[in-house]
Amino acid sequence: MAAAPRAAAPTRIEELRPFYDEVAKCGKCGFCQPACPVYRATSIESHVARGKNALFRNLIEGRTVMDEQLTEAFENCLLCRACTANCFSAVKTDRLVVAFRESYARRFGRPWVQRWIFRNLLPSPGRMACVIRLAWAARRLGLVDAANRLGLLAMINPKLPKALALRDEVPAGFLRDRLRTTVPTPPQPRLRVGYWISCGFNYMLPEVGEATVRELTRQGAAVTVLKNACCGLPVYGYGDLEGARALARRNIDSLGDLDRFDFVVSECGSCSGHLKEYPGLLAGDPEYSVRAARLVRKVRAFTELLVELVGVDPADLQPVEAVVTYHDPCHMTERYQGVVSQPREIIRAVPGVDFRELNEADACCGAAGSYTVMHNDISMKILERKTGNVEHTGAGILITECPACIMQLALGARRRGLDIEVLSVSQLLERARREQGGA
Ligand code: SF4
Ligand code: SF4
Repeated sequence: MAAAPRAAAPTRIEELRPFYDEVAKCGKCGFCQPACPVYRATSIESHVARGKNALFRNLIEGRTVMDEQLTEAFENCLLCRACTANCFSAVKTDRLVVAFRESYARRFGRPWVQRWIFRNLLPSPGRMACVIRLAWAARRLGLVDAANRLGLLAMINPKLPKALALRDEVPAGFLRDRLRTTVPTPPQPRLRVGYWISCGFNYMLPEVGEATVRELTRQGAAVTVLKNACCGLPVYGYGDLEGARALARRNIDSLGDLDRFDFVVSECGSCSGHLKEYPGLLAGDPEYSVRAARLVRKVRAFTELLVELVGVDPADLQPVEAVVTYHDPCHMTERYQGVVSQPREIIRAVPGVDFRELNEADACCGAAGSYTVMHNDISMKILERKTGNVEHTGAGILITECPACIMQLALGARRRGLDIEVLSVSQLLERARREQGGA
């Protein structure tokens, strides 16, 4: 990496000092290198944990300057934790990256759009829905495509055309609106489930959420659609820890009396994974850390709940004659909530399925929230490796449990010309349900 300019004298960054013991655990062995998806794509030392840790340590010791050039190293991280999982000292590089991002924003500020989104839009599902509705309306009217062709979108923000490439059709209505009228209650429910709506499924892939809710009700659950806002993961990822804590508190308040539910469920691995991290995020808050811990005891990923409590009986399913493979979203892996065997168990339970394990199944696909938009070139290299592995399985169906992964993998399949469907576990189950007519 190029040396940072010496326009300003290096100063010790005091707020990073509490992380000194963590960063000092790095023995510079480089075992993190082969595991890091970004490093595998770029071979740039500052993109791997070892390089980031060296820069972070230099900052604490006042041997380098926090400036725009340095931030490139810390922006280039998917927070996937593959480095930590491959590190004998288990250095928590993702935490150091987030701490850097927070410290950087404190010094140099955030773009106003980002501040507005984090503080005004994400905490308000109503406001968020209005803005996205306007965006989709513009798309339906062809205004977005026209603006794109004229280069106007790139003038507003060079990343916008990349963001729009992620989903080519406009969904017919948001999941929250669609569920308002369609959630049936079983006559004698055997469990009460609070269904957590993820932003990605709500605004981009509502059909996935509908399939999940239908499966839950088939399994005898009385489903209540929660009034949650964004879980706060993107805000956390950008190092806005205060914003992420505010969202966590807002969500805990909005869920109200948790005794109403046996479980709080999301089929979005990122949401359920981040919800399970609320107690750590709110550790300094005596009231909300206790409430967060209570919430976590009820939170389940969709497939986790299905296997733990209900199970899937192959006798209830029609054959789905297909080669199927599975991509682990980062927040479902052992590196986060460790829901790894459950989706595979359910997929294998579907008669006719020829399940083939994906090489590097738990490696990040390069979506990582807005990483795919902000660092599109590297993200596409990461995605090419993933889709190459998918192609190698010969699968006709690729399953995953996160909206960002679904959209990224579908984009990867289109780019590679693969004839493959990207579905969630609930969509696969729906296809195998007798009453749906089978595959
Ligand atoms: S982060 Fe861990 S694996 Fe990477 S160089 Fe440091 S000690 Fe080695
Ligand atoms: S968290 Fe992931 S992307 Fe970031 S340094 Fe570690 S392995 Fe690389």
